[in-house]
Amino acid sequence: MRDKVILACTECKERNYNKTKNKRLHPERVEYKKYCPRCNTHRPHKETK
Ligand SMILES: [Zn+2]
Repeated sequence: MRDKVILACTECKERNYNKTKNKRLHPERVEYKKYCPRCNTHRPHKETK
């Protein structure tokens, strides 16, 4: 069971990445450090629905 999640920048809320994850392995919202084109730097990105 893999679910689609969207990763949004925590600073500007821009939705930059789509990914899938296994919710049985990672039931919580995970943060990933990713490049944000709007901030022009790396920011933590959080899952949104
Ligand atoms: Zn940003």
